[in-house]
Amino acid sequence: MDMNSLRNRYTLLGVTMGSIVLFLVLLTHFLLGDRQQQTSFNIENQQRFIAHSHTIRHNVWQVQQVLNYHWTGNNDPDIFSQLNQSVTQASHIAQLLLNEPNLNSEQTKLLSHLVTHLSGLDQVRQQLLSQQQTAAVVDLAQLQKYTDGLIEEIWYQLLTLDTSLKLVTDNNISTLSWLSQQQGYFIWSISLLGLFSIGLIIFSLNQYTFKPLSLITHAILKEANGEDAQLIPDLRFSETKNLLTAFKEIKNQVHYQRDMLEHQASHDTLTGLANRSLLYDKLTQTITASKNNNSEILVILMDLNHFKQINDTLGHQVGDQLLIAVGMRLRYTLHDTDIIARLGGDEFAILVSDQEKIDAPKVCQKILNAFDKTFDVYGHKLSVGVSIGVTIYPQHGDDAETLLKRADVAMYAAKRNHLGFSIYEAENDANDDRYLSIANDLRLALRNDKLSVHYQLKYDLNHDEAVGAEALLRWFHPELGTIPPTQFVPIAEQLGIINELTIWILKQALAQCAKWRSEGVYLSIAVNISVYDLQSSSFVPTVVELLEEYDIPPCYLVIEVTESAMLIDPTHAINRLSELDKMGVRIAIDDFGTGFSSLGYLKKLPVDELKIDKSFVMDMIHDENDAVIVRSTIDLAHNLGLQVVAEGVEDIESYNLLKILRCNTAQGFYMCKPLPAQEIVNYLQLNLFQPKLSSAS
Ligand code: C2E
Ligand code: CA
Ligand code: CA
Repeated sequence: MDMNSLRNRYTLLGVTMGSIVLFLVLLTHFLLGDRQQQTSFNIENQQRFIAHSHTIRHNVWQVQQVLNYHWTGNNDPDIFSQLNQSVTQASHIAQLLLNEPNLNSEQTKLLSHLVTHLSGLDQVRQQLLSQQQTAAVVDLAQLQKYTDGLIEEIWYQLLTLDTSLKLVTDNNISTLSWLSQQQGYFIWSISLLGLFSIGLIIFSLNQYTFKPLSLITHAILKEANGEDAQLIPDLRFSETKNLLTAFKEIKNQVHYQRDMLEHQASHDTLTGLANRSLLYDKLTQTITASKNNNSEILVILMDLNHFKQINDTLGHQVGDQLLIAVGMRLRYTLHDTDIIARLGGDEFAILVSDQEKIDAPKVCQKILNAFDKTFDVYGHKLSVGVSIGVTIYPQHGDDAETLLKRADVAMYAAKRNHLGFSIYEAENDANDDRYLSIANDLRLALRNDKLSVHYQLKYDLNHDEAVGAEALLRWFHPELGTIPPTQFVPIAEQLGIINELTIWILKQALAQCAKWRSEGVYLSIAVNISVYDLQSSSFVPTVVELLEEYDIPPCYLVIEVTESAMLIDPTHAINRLSELDKMGVRIAIDDFGTGFSSLGYLKKLPVDELKIDKSFVMDMIHDENDAVIVRSTIDLAHNLGLQVVAEGVEDIESYNLLKILRCNTAQGFYMCKPLPAQEIVNYLQLNLFQPKLSSAS
């Protein structure tokens, strides 16, 4: 039997106690009950004997009375029948008594004497009766004397018998009272034993059942209140042990579920990285720890450039996989102690706090380098650029909110200035306010026609004459003054109003082109477009519509697209540009040289012109490298059958050098700054650009 089971224990205890009690009751019954019964029986017998002895005595007394009456000479005949009746009855009872089995020897002896003497009396009766009937001579005096002696003997024997019977009865009574006393003791003992058993059971129940139950209940209540229940000591018995095991199991499961929920609540479901709230908590904790040991914390905010386009063009599945891959790449790149979070969309945050002094630029560069390699997502080779904003604790703030907000400001500064990363500077904050204000007002300006267009002439280098104009957006903000397009065009892209903006300027430019044509000025018109325009399915149809509306031959329209726009979403770019190209619209690659277009790649694109970026042109007179780049770009373009436009021509030397290098077209401040439309006609009529001869020519 398993003694570690409470049920078995209690069963055994109950059975043992029950058996003891039963044994004691039986013992009492066997030891005392029989004797008591016997004794009561004895007492009853003795009392019966005493009653018989009294009856004998009564009859003997009657015999004595009758005889005395007779002795006085009375010969009443009734005397004899009475005498006969009394003697017979006395003898009969004495005989009966003598036959009783429960007499002691003394009593038997007394009774047998009594029977003898009573028969003596009967003989006296017979003598008297025969004297009466036969008138036989009887010595009455002698007979009386004999009879008196006999009766005296009888009285003596009856007295002795009574005394003996009484003595025996008394003995029996005292035995009986002793027995009931013993019985009382037994009852007390059994009661005490019962009480002891109950006490023992209550103690055991308390010790082994109620106490563990209350411990476990207490622990469950604590768990329910979200507190951690203290350890419950190991229990001895299988039932409570099982209960404890079940409790521990439930507790573990509850903890596991709670941990899961906590994990879900604090982690990003897509990437498994920490989420914003966990990042916030960790940053707050790290700040507290850093306050004590004077160490620095780096807060890095990072977002992916052009993620929206990838999502829009390749689908959300690719977008999601890319985000997961970015998370993993960050994890491999950074230390295990660095905390990486995804804050939502394509925005990531990183906390670096494992060194006393942190080299922020080095960490940022490491992250940037990690993004040099393309991401392979479902067969797409995606090259992803990032913008990083950084704040450092304690320099840039001493609470999580400030540090994160300022890192955001720094990140926008990085984006605006086309930098890989930017460390927070107080003046960025002003820029940031400016950004928000620009974003709000830009929408209104576009809808209310508050934007304007300037045109910059392009000159044919063979004939030194203006052949085209590039339309450039201008915005005069009533409070902030002139805002350059480099600032507000990216904002328009972020706000999602770039398509509207492009169509607006396209309309202005084509309308202007039509106006000039009506005035006899035949200039091609170049319009800058964004990569987002190429993603819009309505873009090409709108261009066709507008060309028809203003009756402009397609070859008079030049669409300028940057290299990076082509690279981000090549499929859409190539398809849409090919449609335009087929119609006869000219396509120019803007800012050429700043991206990474390969020669082979260029061949695949439906391109008519390359615009060499002004950064190479502006300095090519002084910088040998720039000159080499410009020259080789021109050669390359010509080999591919493309026209070359050099922008940023600021002086005659550059103008003439470009001529020598057989560049086709030039654009720059040297010939003409961007001007409002009406001034352009003026400019052309007055023939204000007269290329002077220089040493280079
Ligand atoms: P971009 O397409 O490269 O335009 C040429 C920029 O070079 C213009 O700046 C022009 O003023 C400037 N520039 C021209 N000649 C010289 C020169 O000799 N020296 C120097 N230093 N700069 C010269 P702007 O107007 O500030 O425009 C800047 C950029 O803003 C443009 O660069 C273009 O990327 C963007 N942008 C302007 N208008 C539009 C537009 O309507 N749509 C789009 N998507 N982007 C536009
Ligand atoms: Ca341009
Ligand atoms: Ca350009």
